[in-house]
Amino acid sequence: MKVIEHYDKATEPLISFEIIPPKRGGSVQSIFESLDKVVEKVQPPFIDVTYHAAEAYVEEQADGTLKRVIRRKRPGTIGLCAAILHRYGIDPVPHLICEGFTREESEDALIELNYLGIHNVLAIRGDNTGSQVSLNQNGTANKYAIDLVRQIHRMNQGDYIEDIINAESTNFCVGVAGYPEKHFEAPNLDWDIKRLKDKVDAGADYVVTQMFFDNSAYFSFVEKCRENGIDVPIVPGLKILTTNNHLKSLPKYFHLNIPDELTAEVDANPDKAKEIGIEWARQQTLELMEGGAPGIHFYIMGDPQPALDVIDFVRKK
Ligand code: FAD
Repeated sequence: MKVIEHYDKATEPLISFEIIPPKRGGSVQSIFESLDKVVEKVQPPFIDVTYHAAEAYVEEQADGTLKRVIRRKRPGTIGLCAAILHRYGIDPVPHLICEGFTREESEDALIELNYLGIHNVLAIRGDNTGSQVSLNQNGTANKYAIDLVRQIHRMNQGDYIEDIINAESTNFCVGVAGYPEKHFEAPNLDWDIKRLKDKVDAGADYVVTQMFFDNSAYFSFVEKCRENGIDVPIVPGLKILTTNNHLKSLPKYFHLNIPDELTAEVDANPDKAKEIGIEWARQQTLELMEGGAPGIHFYIMGDPQPALDVIDFVRKK
């Protein structure tokens, strides 16, 4: 089923999850162990799997010469999605990124997904983090997420890169990213919301937000989106703070604010960071659900337990 159909039919907020593929050479078994717990407890309507761009490095060789190496640290998004569908019968949502892919490669990936019976995609630009060399394929890649949304929309009309007679139309439901605290490159939030509106006008069916710790940022973002004519579901993405180190790493990598109250609590009790983070997420989840959020999308990375604790708590309320 399409993600948007899940939201349309839902009678209560939907709980969904996002995982990352194992590092190259890692076992998929650990992912299944996590997902077994998630599926047993929650039966989520869909599970997202992130995509990771190859990164370019310059490595010094033993003889002192320099070599350009391009390596994807976490391959396997499409395979993992197929495995999720096969093992659990739950709709997987692969993320597709622009960064590092030519438009032909994006088309190929969409064809693979279509043949696998996977009809949901989160269309994302990606970041060129840590790469020394641009991976944007000399202009043959989609530049922004909206370009990928347009490409998918065209394939949904049977319009491929080449003119193909009687080409099969795909039938993808497309999600895109939104940023309650604005995307770090955008000059201001209003401008960023207008770019989000462009993505929706280009064919995006729903929005998943970047993680945030202050619900007022989400509620005010949704209000501004509605004022700007964005009328698709806007699903809050939640990450649970579980270590003291998150106070620094999350703002650094995800460009978000951590409220004073949470920072002060963790600073005062660094060895209780996990309990404090889970309690914060419980209250955030409750308030978001009561405030009309269509669902909660938990970024669980490798460990689902904190999210499952939060869900347990919320269900008992
Ligand atoms: P875009 O929508 O393209 O926006 C990027 C920036 O460009 C914004 O500042 C926007 O305002 C601006 N912009 C948009 N259109 C234009 C235009 N026409 N002209 C000028 N500026 C414009 N990263 C991964 O590598 N893999 C993942 O699986 C992944 N999943 C994610 C899932 C979610 C829910 C979120 C929130 C983020 C995810 N990311 C992922 C991170 C994402 O790649 C980065 O946040 C990236 O910097 C922006 O991606 P985007 O799709 O929002 O980009």
